Amino acid sequence: MTPAGGECDTPIVLQISRFQKGRFIMSYTVTRRGAKSIVKFSCTKCGTPLESPLEEANKRFPCPNCGEQFVTPGAEELKKLREDNAERAAREAEAEANARAVHQEERRLAAARVAQNSTNDEEDQDAQRGLHRPTPKYDGITVGAGILRILCVLTWIGALIIIVQAAQHADSVQFVAGASAVISGALIWMVAEVGLAIRDIARNSFRK
Ligand SMILES: [Zn+2]
Repeated sequence: MTPAGGECDTPIVLQISRFQKGRFIMSYTVTRRGAKSIVKFSCTKCGTPLESPLEEANKRFPCPNCGEQFVTPGAEELKKLREDNAERAAREAEAEANARAVHQEERRLAAARVAQNSTNDEEDQDAQRGLHRPTPKYDGITVGAGILRILCVLTWIGALIIIVQAAQHADSVQFVAGASAVISGALIWMVAEVGLAIRDIARNSFRK
């Protein structure tokens, strides 16, 4: 307990007058100075403005001016302050627990996502192993049909050369050979087409 200074404090309890058996004892205010709560009051005997930390409320001190013994005020405010502090600590602990729970849930979801992704990878690998085999772009029949078509075009070029020479020499045998080559080329092309058609029919019926 010290004589009150001139600090600019924030009042948290405006003014409380304390009476005992209907008789006025003292009035006091509780203010906040930084993180500390201060009780301001006046000596009941000499009227000197005094102050003491709220933590020292309900303790008996002598007045530094006149030596009058009295109990410093603010006991109720100190009790309320301690209750508020305990409540705030409980609220903070609960908020922290909630934040931890949210964090754990986020981590659980992230782990589940990773597990899901690896399952998807496994499905992709299954697909590659042939369980859900995607249609290959170049299978044997497609390549074979391509080769047959090239062969057909070459046969027709040969047939054209033979027919041109047959016309130049007016050779009917050579002309028949050229015509045969044209028909052979057409047959080769048809084989390629039939092969592709059979492949498509087989593929569609397997898919169903
Ligand atoms: Zn005094």
